[in-house]
Amino acid sequence: MSAALVVENLGVRYGGVTALRDVSLSVDEGQILTVLGANGAGKTSMLRGISGLVSSTGTVTHHGRTLGRLDAAARARAGLGHVLEGRHVFPDLTVRENLHLGSLLSPKPAEGVERALALLPELEEMAGRKAGRLSGGQQQMLAIARAISGSPSVLLLDEPTNGLAPMLVQRTIDVIGAIQELGVAVLLVEQRVEVAQALGSEVLVLQRGEVVGTAHGTDDDLEDRIHTAYLA
Ligand code: ATP
Repeated sequence: MSAALVVENLGVRYGGVTALRDVSLSVDEGQILTVLGANGAGKTSMLRGISGLVSSTGTVTHHGRTLGRLDAAARARAGLGHVLEGRHVFPDLTVRENLHLGSLLSPKPAEGVERALALLPELEEMAGRKAGRLSGGQQQMLAIARAISGSPSVLLLDEPTNGLAPMLVQRTIDVIGAIQELGVAVLLVEQRVEVAQALGSEVLVLQRGEVVGTAHGTDDDLEDRIHTAYLA
């Protein structure tokens, strides 16, 4: 398997605040890498640095191509999907219109919408409803579906289970597994250890902007190790 995303020595600063320092990682096609870390560990900054929403130092390589000079829109068009934290959908547009907009990033937009609806068929029955009328959980699903409609080869997911009821957490886990099966490289940021465990993914632990450990979702002592890192 080849690396879809390679990040080397990524750094993000906001004025005098260093949010991320020297983070390196790699995600293969069809692989999930979960980055676990407490509030403020730098997870969101890491994803924003990769997708070009904030400026960063270091190198981001997508299927062998260095993205350094590309802005966020160009990175998205190149196949880097990013689901931001907090259900960003267009509230006044319908579900279908949201998917259609997302699909414009895809070389074949109609196929993009079909792919998203195949992944999340529950959205079909609400296709004509305004996104702002959906529940928080449904909006989160739509945000993921919209990213998938753009046919990304790499998907960055920022705490997709945050604030969801347990049933929807499980649904989100299943959907992420299905996205992996499509061959997409998934870089998932989470606070919930159980998501990495359920996915059986590779794990990086981020603390105060730095990678402090690697693990695997199937490790017996994962929870202890993560909690030690969170509390340190
Ligand atoms: P959370 O789980 O709360 O989203 P996080 O792990 O995603 O946290 P970041 O949001 O990346 O962490 O924040 C990392 C650090 O950078 C924190 O110390 C935060 O206060 C700081 N930070 C984030 N955004 C900004 C900003 N726009 N300006 C200044 N400092 C910021």
